[in-house]
Formats: sequence, C-alpha cells, structure tokens
Amino acid sequence: MPCKLCEQRGKTWKGDDPKCAFLADTFSTDNWNCATMHELRTICEDLAVYNEDQYSAVVPVFDCGEFLVLSWYKRLGRIEGAWIIDSGTVLPLTIQEAVVIIEQYRKNNTMERGHMRPTAQGEKAAQA
Ligand SMILES: [Zn+2]
Repeated sequence: MPCKLCEQRGKTWKGDDPKCAFLADTFSTDNWNCATMHELRTICEDLAVYNEDQYSAVVPVFDCGEFLVLSWYKRLGRIEGAWIIDSGTVLPLTIQEAVVIIEQYRKNNTMERGHMRPTAQGEKAAQA
C-alpha cells in the first residue's frame, strides 16, 4: 500500500504513474513521484549542493543530533537515496521517520531550514 500522502494526492498529472517509495516500511530506490519524498525534497532543496545534475542535501531532524540525507537527479520524480545519519551510522529512511520529519517541518515553519533552533520570531509566536 502506498504512503498516506501518495494516497491523498493520487495522480494529478498525465504521464507515468506514481510509484510510492514506501510500499515497504523502508525507502525504496524504485520510486516515482512519491508524495512523501516530494515533500522531503521540498524541505531539503534550498540546502542542496550539486555536481553536474546530481543533487544532495542534508538537513537536521528530530532535534537530537540526527540528519536526513537525500540525493536525486535533476528535479525529476525519482529520489535516488534517502538516509538518516545517527551518531555516525547511516541508516535507510523509514516511512515512520519520514512522516515525523514532515510533521516537524510543517508544524514549526519557524524552524530555520538547516538549523533546528527556533528563530526569534518563532519564540514570539510560541509565547503568544
Ligand atoms: Zn509515497
């Protein structure tokens, strides 16, 4: 079964059908236009670095010293790689982690990208 975001979105374009990256719990490289991976890339892409047409980005997650690493080719439908770095250990991304990361970034848009500490503006919003 595809991820919840893929289910909610469905297919909104002509062309190849989507292929969810999370038909199993762990990220699959055999994906196309997965809505969860699209949102994670949107979170990451301002921080991406590139080499030719390959892109990669690292963002802090979970507010406990972990990072999400994504890699992709151009801005097509496929995400080539997705990992969590936890204390120097590289682990494949799971759907549970992806959901929490998206919630974290959606809920707290005061969280500066690339930095887990809330901004001064966010602190004011939290106090209001
Ligand atoms: Zn999906």
